[in-house]
Amino acid sequence: MRSSAITPEMDGAQVTVAGWVHEIRDLGGLIFIVLRDREGFVQITLPKKVVDKDVFKRAKKILRESVIKVEGIVKKEEKAPNGFEIIPKSLDILNESQAPLPLEVTEKVPADLDTRLDNRFMDLRRPKISSIFKIKSQVTKSIRDFLHNQGFIEVQTPKIVATATEGGTELFPISYFEKEAFLNQSPQLYKQILMSAGFEKVYEIGPIFRAEEHNTTRHLNEATSVDIEMSFTDHEGVMQILENLIARVYEDVVTKCEKELEILEIKLEIPDTPFQRITYTEAIELLGNQIPWGEDLDLQALKSLATKIEGIYFITDWPTKIKPFYVMAHEDERISKSFDLMHNYIELASGAQREHRYERLAENIKAKGLSVESFDFYLKAFRYGIPPHAGWGLGLERLIMAMLGLSNIREAMLFPRDRTRVSP
Ligand code: ATP
Ligand code: MG
Repeated sequence: MRSSAITPEMDGAQVTVAGWVHEIRDLGGLIFIVLRDREGFVQITLPKKVVDKDVFKRAKKILRESVIKVEGIVKKEEKAPNGFEIIPKSLDILNESQAPLPLEVTEKVPADLDTRLDNRFMDLRRPKISSIFKIKSQVTKSIRDFLHNQGFIEVQTPKIVATATEGGTELFPISYFEKEAFLNQSPQLYKQILMSAGFEKVYEIGPIFRAEEHNTTRHLNEATSVDIEMSFTDHEGVMQILENLIARVYEDVVTKCEKELEILEIKLEIPDTPFQRITYTEAIELLGNQIPWGEDLDLQALKSLATKIEGIYFITDWPTKIKPFYVMAHEDERISKSFDLMHNYIELASGAQREHRYERLAENIKAKGLSVESFDFYLKAFRYGIPPHAGWGLGLERLIMAMLGLSNIREAMLFPRDRTRVSP
């Protein structure tokens, strides 16, 4: 049984618990073991005079982080952490740990991130760390529930592709039999093709691969993207879905992850909808017109913008020339029907209404210096009837990082891949 299922009111009941030896205190005639399982901690108390001789002997020799199974009687005990302890009848060592440990599971000795990631299996035994991933699991569930309720179909698109989504250099080439192929940097082209297929509303939660050259605290080389694409709507339509989705995710985490938030010492506030919207041009003005119109907002600009706008907000109507070819322009063609969702200075999502008119799309591809032929598999889907459509891509780890105030995106990935790390 899980530790969390036991209460002091079960005084006298026989229970079986299993987990890791978190701590041992040997006071000679009395041994305390703190057993840790997925849900928490239980104190196992072994008074020499009361417990079986063999059990006591075994407990004396136990090494921390060994996996044990204990069968015993619950005893109400006000001094114990949960108001009870377990007096064992039997104690089995299911798997013995070696010593010394590569990493401390108790919070006593801080370790640097590299050491932690090198020993991630052990790092993840720490409740503060596993709580992040329990919350991440809730977040993905909430996203799925929300989108299903809105009539979205979950899809899986290829991760091995022949063409770069947006051209560019952020690609991992792989050898694919006699040919060269790439790991996909985004499901963009495929989710658009599905609009031509008539799926109308699709979403995908899957890996994206980006050969980001530089290690930053906001970039991974393998990240998880939540992508939607929706027909018969525009950028405004999918912005509304995005803000309602984010609010719903926060709400679910607040109500369903109380324990994890407490462990992480986070008080989460559900953001009000609609989120604030400012245009790119307004952002430039807010920044004192120091950035020439048309230039991208770099980290420094976004940081200074975040001192003027708090929390979660949209930056809309970006210059067309700094957005990808599939983004639709406004009537004033210098501006696009695009948006980024920001959390302070961190970009959480990018989206837009898409260019669905074949001729214009082909022109855009050419204008970006890309080859129309290599996009034929995609462009074909625009020649035989495709509805107007819009969508976005939301970085799941960015969202977790922002929501939980993590200082490094690596904290939001079980086994992060970065410029120097491909293992474990
Ligand atoms: P940035 O400018 O922050 O590098 P981007 O504009 O290149 O991001 P998009 O192509 O717009 O990224 O991808 C959509 C979303 O996917 C981003 O808003 C972000 O949340 C997430 N994302 C993109 N690249 C990465 C990455 N290398 N690591 C983690 N998340 C990423
Ligand atoms: Mg972007």
